[in-house]
Amino acid sequence: MREWHEAAGAVHLHSQFSDGALPIPEIAAIAGEMGLDFLLFSDHNTLAPRRLGLEGWHGRTLVLAGCELNDADDRNHYLAFRIRKEIPAGLTARQNVRRVARQGGFGVIAHPAEKRSFSDAYPPYPWTDWDIDGFDGIEIWNQMSEWLEGVTRRNFIWRIWHPLRSIRFPVWTTLDRWDRLNRKRRVVGLGGIDVHAFEYKVLGLFPVALYPYKVQFKSIRMHILTATPLRPADVPTPAAAEAAVFEALAAGRAFIVNYSLGDGRGFRFWAERAGKRHPMGSRLARSGNVLLRAEAPLPGRMRLLRDGRVVREEHGRSVRMRTSESGVYRIEIFRRNRGWVYSNPIVIT
Ligand SMILES: [Zn+2]
Ligand SMILES: [Zn+2]
Repeated sequence: MREWHEAAGAVHLHSQFSDGALPIPEIAAIAGEMGLDFLLFSDHNTLAPRRLGLEGWHGRTLVLAGCELNDADDRNHYLAFRIRKEIPAGLTARQNVRRVARQGGFGVIAHPAEKRSFSDAYPPYPWTDWDIDGFDGIEIWNQMSEWLEGVTRRNFIWRIWHPLRSIRFPVWTTLDRWDRLNRKRRVVGLGGIDVHAFEYKVLGLFPVALYPYKVQFKSIRMHILTATPLRPADVPTPAAAEAAVFEALAAGRAFIVNYSLGDGRGFRFWAERAGKRHPMGSRLARSGNVLLRAEAPLPGRMRLLRDGRVVREEHGRSVRMRTSESGVYRIEIFRRNRGWVYSNPIVIT
């Protein structure tokens, strides 16, 4: 049986290269303190961090930089990772997706179902162009979107003081769409924090950092299972480390953890058939019985879903089910009635 190496990171970060509050080395230092192994930056329409040599190891934390693209109407935000050449602004969403693919990049649809109820100053940027194919992943949980969506004039101050309590669940319509996409081909689910940490002047007077980086790093984390350990000794160069991270992501060996409800390190979801173990992200041709198993480091309400429907539910740290039916199988775990862990699926075709 193969042992995978687990790394926990944060995806979809903004720095001072666009509308984030801090420079990358400072953000990386905070992430290191918080125990994060990697950071995927996505400043708006720029690969400056890559050009200026900021990628690579900052202590124990790996920094990689892509960018966030938008279409000419500032809709359809798209995270473009593993690209070498900058993509000019003002293209259509379809052109953005195509250009990322042509460079061998890894493209992720950002905050697809974004809504707002509060302020015109922060309009929503949903994904609207679903005819387009060719993307690699979809941000099924966006921490900033969820926070802003629930903000009203009445709870605004409360939400600033208790940001982590507003993280509850990914948007249901996005999960549904993600399940349906995976019936046809692998579309990787990611959790992003979309951190900016911009300042907001409460009552127009004293400035408060909205969601400082340190707090954000305790929210939605992306865990990946890599073939090579994600450590400076094993993947010293940015190129080698990038290859390790995106090999795992592209294979769907990845899950999302809401860290404010507990550390998800050690969670596993796999399939067993004929003495062989297949990790999450696998797509298996249907033939006979498959045993699906998941284990968690902390107890919770564990649900195994097939095509979006719960087919098994257990309270505790493990769930298993034997099946011969095709479908998109994935795990959701709840703690304190909120979403804690979301796996990528195992698909029986
Ligand atoms: Zn965006
Ligand atoms: Zn963003």
